[in-house]
Formats: sequence, C-alpha cells, structure tokens
Amino acid sequence: MLVRSWLTALLFGLLAVSVSWADPPLKALIVDGQNAHNWKETSPVLKTLLEDSGMFQVDVATSPPKGQDMSGFQPDFSKYALVVLNYQGDEWAADTKQAFVDYVKNGGGVLVYHFACAAFPKWPEYNEIIGLGGWGGRNETAGPYLRLRDGQFVRDETPGRGGGHGPMQPFQLIVREPNHPITQGLPPTFMHVDDELYGWLRGPAKNLTVLATAFAPKELGGAGEHEPVLFTVEYGKGRVFQNALGHTAKELKSVAFIATFLRGAEWAATGKVTQSVPDDFPGPDKASIRE
Ligand code: ZN
Repeated sequence: MLVRSWLTALLFGLLAVSVSWADPPLKALIVDGQNAHNWKETSPVLKTLLEDSGMFQVDVATSPPKGQDMSGFQPDFSKYALVVLNYQGDEWAADTKQAFVDYVKNGGGVLVYHFACAAFPKWPEYNEIIGLGGWGGRNETAGPYLRLRDGQFVRDETPGRGGGHGPMQPFQLIVREPNHPITQGLPPTFMHVDDELYGWLRGPAKNLTVLATAFAPKELGGAGEHEPVLFTVEYGKGRVFQNALGHTAKELKSVAFIATFLRGAEWAATGKVTQSVPDDFPGPDKASIRE
C-alpha cells in the first residue's frame, strides 16, 4: 500500500510538472499611470481577467503621475508576449517610445483598451500601431474614418473631428469578419451593456481588419454610422488588437467585453485563439453580465 501511494504521488507529481512545462503562462504587461479615465479601478480588473484565464502571468508598469519626469519610465517590453495599453497621458521618453516600436515590429502583441486610443496624438508610429484613434486634437490630419459602404470598409477623408460618443447606451455588436481567430465561433450579433460607443475614430488605418462594429444612431449622439469597435492591425511582425469597449469597471462585467478582450489578448500574444466561446456569451438581444 505504502509503495503504491508513493508511486501515485510520484505519478501525480510528474504529471503536474509536465503540465506546467508544457503550458507555461504567457507574460503580459499592463501599462497605466495616467489616463483621463479611472485606470486605478480598471487595471486590477484587466489583470484579474487575464490571470483567471490561466493563460497569462501579469505585471503592471505604472508611470509617474502627470507632469512628472518620465525619463525613468522604462518598461522592458521585450520580456512580454502581450502589452495591454491602459495609458493616456504625458509623452514617454524617446528611448521608451523606441523600445515600444521595436517590440511591436519584432512580433510583440498589443491590446489597445478603450481610451488608450486617445494617447499620443502626435506620435506617428503609435498611431500606425493603433490604426484608429480619437481625441487629443485629432482631425483629418490624423487620417481617414473607416466607413461601411456596400459591405466594404472605405477610407473617408471628410474633414472633421477624430473621436466622440453620445451618452451611455446599450448596443449590439455586429461581426464583420467571422473567419478571424478572435471572432470565429461568436454569434453574428451580440449585445453589450450600457457603455460609451466610440465613434469618429480616425488614423492611418494601415493593415487594419475590422472585426466588429456597432451602429451609433444620430438620435443617440452618434454619426449614424456602423462604428468599428473591435479591430486588428498588423505592424511589422506584431499583432495589435483594439477593443474600444469598457468605460469603467462596471462595463468590464459584460461578457461581450470579457470574451473579446481575452480572445484578442491570446491572439495578439500568440496569433491563435484556443479558448472556447463561454456558455454565458450573449446573443443578439440581451447583454450578459458576470458578477
Ligand atoms: Zn470612456
């Protein structure tokens, strides 16, 4: 009996070791520290979502507060498979910017979360990496809008604002690219909770694939257009996923956010999506909330 329980323990031990060897967590870095949004509330939620997925081990790089010396803010991006941007604020030091561009060019994964699309309006490489952005004085000089015309996204150079949204409202996402790993297997339309529906985003929009849109009615403060809210950008060897949802921690309880955030994180980090669509993923009419 004793020998058998030793053997059992040994076997379980070996199994545990081999599982942890075969499937090491990916390393992710959340960048925050300045944002016109409540990053102190949202970053811990993003960290928990990534870690609870079992796929990621997460560090957080928090910059100095607004107006302080940024020269010492030097995250080692190259150590990570994924960088999650929850930052909108002062310019980074030149060598930090170069390290970030090199990271993406060399195959790094980036997830642009909500208001990170408003960061760095004057940094050309950042705007190429995020594809579309808003606010910070962005206008037609930032690049075109992407507008859905006859089933295709076309570049619309019409002069005007870059970035905007009406009041918080519930909205439905419409999948525009069902064959991308991030959207594969999702229902063609699905509901999100009351949230800001970002519109009028504009930018270089190179190598950009719109995965999902949401319609922003004029009577609810929108452009009367199908606005891109989930999209990818390929920059060098790097993969970038932008998720415009999630104004505060409350909206991060929406399964429409959680599932697209995690699928986008895995794709940006690895180029694949191995996770299944959760059972509580919403359908076309009713949002799904996870407490
Ligand atoms: Zn917001």
